[in-house]
Amino acid sequence: MKLNFALVIALFICTFSFAQTDEEIGNDPELTKKAEEKAKNRPGTYPVTDNIFMLKGMGGNIAVHHGIDGVLMIDTQFENISESILEAIAKETDLPLEFVINTHAHGDHTGGNKNFKRKGATILAHENTRDIMLSKMYKTAEQQALADLEKSIDEAKGISGSGEKLAAMEETKEELMIRIREQAQENMEIDYEQLPAISFQDDMLFHYNDEEIKLFHIPNAHTKGDIMVYFPKSNVIHTGDAFVNGMYPFIDFENGGSYEGYQRGLTTIMNRANDETVIIPGHGNLANRADVIEMRRMMKIFYDKVVVEYMMNKTEDQVAEMRNFSELFDEKGYGDGFITTERFLRSVYKAVALEKGRERDKNKRQTELLKKNQERAKKMDEGRQ
Ligand SMILES: [Zn+2]
Repeated sequence: MKLNFALVIALFICTFSFAQTDEEIGNDPELTKKAEEKAKNRPGTYPVTDNIFMLKGMGGNIAVHHGIDGVLMIDTQFENISESILEAIAKETDLPLEFVINTHAHGDHTGGNKNFKRKGATILAHENTRDIMLSKMYKTAEQQALADLEKSIDEAKGISGSGEKLAAMEETKEELMIRIREQAQENMEIDYEQLPAISFQDDMLFHYNDEEIKLFHIPNAHTKGDIMVYFPKSNVIHTGDAFVNGMYPFIDFENGGSYEGYQRGLTTIMNRANDETVIIPGHGNLANRADVIEMRRMMKIFYDKVVVEYMMNKTEDQVAEMRNFSELFDEKGYGDGFITTERFLRSVYKAVALEKGRERDKNKRQTELLKKNQERAKKMDEGRQ
């Protein structure tokens, strides 16, 4: 333990020119904590080509592309590690960071936006990604306002003689909540620094560092705002979380993600890539086309199996406990990360239930239409007689 601690401190002092002396750090628990945090959070640099490298640390994988014009970075991880990221970039190039692309809205890919914007970078994303980020800000403001309302009701409960006032508050709570929501939205200060300055609808083409960089929208996959970034000349793809390597994917149904869309997205990535393409996944190690194909295979197996269970009237809880078909992938560590086997099985079940529900509705509508037409025909027959 003691040795580890000494190592962390030594590492800290060696790496940062502005570092405090070891005595200062040793005497200040705050500084010690910061030093440990920093050493722990520092991203590792993984070369991909001469002018592209991956930064892997906390949060989603970052890709950095540099050349004659400057630096373009894909995703920003968390807010508290931006400094380490800039240090890692500075080791490779002196040119300024001009562009940041967000592959989607989640905090582990966009958390550092503000810091890089302050350094002069322009942030870009799909317009749905910007929408998701903005609506999350609204939601947070609303929740705060609603929590304040609950608190004032609770406080009123503690004051004697507030019975009438309290009853009135409870009675108009619904109305109050609507008004508070509206007010929260109106008065909210939008944190523009965190948001992309430029958004686009479908695709976008960059001409930068003597390369054409293609941004493609992957609709309704991990979220509704996913993009993949393709460097044809370098033969590199950053997939964002529309592909993660060697782990079960997270499908954010709440923000427009879908199982079917995720599978379609994998096909899109697969079609863009060839056997030499280096694929930088949203999470996990550097990958290739075969890894994407394997993920697609996994998703199909799971879906087909869960359909059968669903048709046999198995509940979500029952399916979540099954390991008979996940075993093959569990053994490879697919369920060891953020999305466990159980969580993934639940999302597959949800996707199947949604699809089967849609089919049922469609059949119902068709039956009703048929019935209506038969009745109409009958009436016309009667009219003729
Ligand atoms: Zn994500």
